[in-house]
Amino acid sequence: MTAYDPNNIFAKILRGEFPCYKVYEDDHVIAFLDIMPRTPGHTLVIPKAPARNILDIAQEDFAHVARGAHKIAQAAKQAFQADGMTIAQYSEASGGQVVFHLHMHVMPRHDNVGLLPAASRKEDPKVLEDNATKLIAALAAL
Ligand code: AMP
Repeated sequence: MTAYDPNNIFAKILRGEFPCYKVYEDDHVIAFLDIMPRTPGHTLVIPKAPARNILDIAQEDFAHVARGAHKIAQAAKQAFQADGMTIAQYSEASGGQVVFHLHMHVMPRHDNVGLLPAASRKEDPKVLEDNATKLIAALAAL
């Protein structure tokens, strides 16, 4: 497998070299909004540990990401009045991965509303700001 590239965009976000709509951080993970959301509130949870995907991440580091995704899902249900949740993690190009720092997608779902195609539309920054505010408030209320 190709080695981890520390210049990927999510590594830059982790180092504070690139902005993001951060909603959550602990010792092991950060979570921020996807700027091309497939559903309103689409959030990405990433480990602070460098890992390309499920094929090279340490079990413990993946467990931290799963815990983070669980927390985001609970808050997103409240923040976006979601009926359901889709959690996804793509590994390697053949698995649909585009950014090669492991990330778990948390996508709030509503009855009878489909997912937008991946990377089909950049969201309005104002909408992202509002959604981040809602999610942060819901996380604080957990
Ligand atoms: P994947 O196919 O799992 O690698 O998905 C990568 C995801 O990252 C896509 O959903 C993109 O919309 C999202 N994305 C790419 N660049 C950024 C960024 N700078 N900030 C937030 N999300 C991003």
